Amino acid sequence: MSRVFNFSAGPSVFPEPVLEKAAAEMLDYRGQGMSVLEMSHRSKMFTDILADTKARLRRLMAIPEDYHILFLQGGAFTQFAMVPINLMRRHRRGAYINTGSWSKKAMAEAKKIGAVSEIASSADSNFNYLPDLPDALPEPADYVHITTNNTIYGTAFSNMPAYGDTPLVGDMSSNILSQVYDVTQFGLIYAGAQKNAGPSGLTMVIIHKDLVGHAPENTPVMLDYQVHVKADSCHNTPPCYAIYLAGLVFEWLEDQGGVPAIETRNRKKAALLYDLLDSSSFFRATVAKPHRGLMNIPFLLADEALNKPFLTKAAEAGLVNLKGHRSVGGMRASIYNAMPLAGVQALVDFMKEFERTYG
Ligand SMILES: *Cc1c(COP(=O)(O)O)cnc(C)c1O
Repeated sequence: MSRVFNFSAGPSVFPEPVLEKAAAEMLDYRGQGMSVLEMSHRSKMFTDILADTKARLRRLMAIPEDYHILFLQGGAFTQFAMVPINLMRRHRRGAYINTGSWSKKAMAEAKKIGAVSEIASSADSNFNYLPDLPDALPEPADYVHITTNNTIYGTAFSNMPAYGDTPLVGDMSSNILSQVYDVTQFGLIYAGAQKNAGPSGLTMVIIHKDLVGHAPENTPVMLDYQVHVKADSCHNTPPCYAIYLAGLVFEWLEDQGGVPAIETRNRKKAALLYDLLDSSSFFRATVAKPHRGLMNIPFLLADEALNKPFLTKAAEAGLVNLKGHRSVGGMRASIYNAMPLAGVQALVDFMKEFERTYG
């Protein structure tokens, strides 16, 4: 068996020990004589898995008890709609920071429910930087929406803005658990699991209790946070196996020393690649220095005609899924928590060799 270094933006690389453990437990989960795939979601076996997974996430992110943790389906996309449905109640308005494609999609859904203020945008330069944020909201809003890491462009916010009593809602899909964030600065955090926390099919929502219970009467049950809080994410059949896998990823993360330790490793990984990009005239980083995130690193080759050979040679060297998003072009290396330092080192070595050959 030979495994590649997978730089996919999502679904993406898993920690190898997690895959091994899931494989070992596939037919017989801890002496139960059945797979997690086969368990009733009402069984004690599964409710123990759910409770354990929640407890691990609460520890990893230091989530206070006045926040609920929900494991839902429908991806971050469904949260683009659930957030305005549940949170727009007094002003019927959401304030949005537009840092790219995902922010725009979140705004488009919110506009179907109520009013949207775009309070900052980096659209004028294809989202390759983070816009300055206003000190105060131009109009009262029920929440402020921020995309903490911009998966396509490689920018990330580390310091959160504060707007008094107006809760902050964070789309953390592509950098949850990769660096320390203070949950208490948010009213709500959501994230599709498939980038940094587990398989697709699972969406994590961390929501302050004060934001629950305000959806309009006619809200479909599956779109009402209160329904999921009351049923502990089991109003209908939850994504059981995805929850179990996320639990294994959380266990692995705790073994690595938790979020502060993985952040240190992630900083080393990103620095290794950015140092090469900044010292080369053959490769070029697209993101302004102070605005760079740790998870997704887009870069361009000076000669676009070399994009194809770069991707072909990289794949031959076991470095796959490096093609950049079409809206940025060039390459993108997604180096989530589960990408080892050795993977980034292998990429950097390959890039130096490629430059020697073609530069
Ligand atoms: C991938 C991604 C999404 C979309 O997530 P789905 O789970 O596919 O709905 C939304 N926001 C960000 C920041 C993402 O990276």
